[in-house]
Amino acid sequence: MAPRLSSKTAFLKQSDIRRMTLLSQEHGAINLSQGVCDTPIPDAVKTAAKHAIDHGPNTYTRADGIPELRRAVAKKLDQQNGLLYDPESEIVITNGSTGALYGAAMAVLEPGDEVLLFEPCYGYHKNTLLALGCVPVPVPLAGRDFGLDIGRTQAAVSPRTRGVLINTPANPSGKVFTETELRALAELAERHDLWVFTDEIYEHFVYDQHRHLSPARLPELRERTITINGFSKTFSITGWRIGFCAAPAALAQRISQLSDLVYICAPAPLQAAVAAGLDALGPEFYSELQASYTHKRQRICTALGRVGLTPIEPEGAYYVLAEIGHLPGTDCREKTIGLLDRTRVAAVPGSAFYDGSGGDHLARFCFAKDDDTLDEACRRLETLSAG
Ligand code: PMP
Repeated sequence: MAPRLSSKTAFLKQSDIRRMTLLSQEHGAINLSQGVCDTPIPDAVKTAAKHAIDHGPNTYTRADGIPELRRAVAKKLDQQNGLLYDPESEIVITNGSTGALYGAAMAVLEPGDEVLLFEPCYGYHKNTLLALGCVPVPVPLAGRDFGLDIGRTQAAVSPRTRGVLINTPANPSGKVFTETELRALAELAERHDLWVFTDEIYEHFVYDQHRHLSPARLPELRERTITINGFSKTFSITGWRIGFCAAPAALAQRISQLSDLVYICAPAPLQAAVAAGLDALGPEFYSELQASYTHKRQRICTALGRVGLTPIEPEGAYYVLAEIGHLPGTDCREKTIGLLDRTRVAAVPGSAFYDGSGGDHLARFCFAKDDDTLDEACRRLETLSAG
């Protein structure tokens, strides 16, 4: 028998997303459960990656990333987000935004510290906190439009609260925090001296009249915010593991030291490719991305609505939560498995995003698929009405 595993990591179990992905493979189904975009990589990024593998950089980089990418990220933050960060001392290139959150949380939190996050919430956020011995405190968003309930948020603050984690646009709800909501959170963060972690990985996926606003844009948040982002979604390179965070210099330096310790640096040639992509791609790239995802969102919401899986139209990101309460099955896990059996389309049971029963009547469908695959998934879902 092997020696025992650590008790610290005993909470880690197979996620519903991975479970549904495996089931999807077994069923030869279309996998709308995992947030993997299989849309094409921009040519400028692909070509630069091949060039970098041939000509370098291929060795370890500085722990906080190559200067070209830190500079390109600083320029992007200035132009797209209205944020001024020094590429030499305030930006760290990380192993995806996942690596950035882990480093940031390790750098500022102690075991037992509480962090508020908003429910429905992305499981990695919660698990990153748990892995560090911290306590995620979910605060439910209100109603079908997932509004911020500031009274409830305030009520969740305790003497152990050290941070609040915002995901805007959010996975799985698609919620885009408004300026009014962010101002209310800024006031709360100041009053209770909280760190603000903000995961903005879906910033370019916003629909209709909604606009992405980076929390660090609010002057009172600049010094207490860690802005986390990455290129997995924007450039369709989830497997490359290139993300970043922007934070005040002392904190950025600590995050960089932690990145060094855990994985030394982000993949060198891929850093160069992302820098080249950021330089080459102009505003039209981002508006085309938005237009194409607006179309995909419409396509899937229409299909779901037609067969009574009423969608909650997302304001941003590329997931849609839909009502599955009336499908056969005792709980939403069974219902999504039943749906997979009948349609050969995999979705994630809503319970995966809630501590309590809030998501029991929901399933999450990812629409980051090429148009043909998404069309086929929609056609399969539409067979539901045929009984
Ligand atoms: N944050 C959110 C909210 C996500 O949904 C995902 C991917 N599912 C990630 C982060 C992961 O990003 P990365 O690939 O940059 O680690």
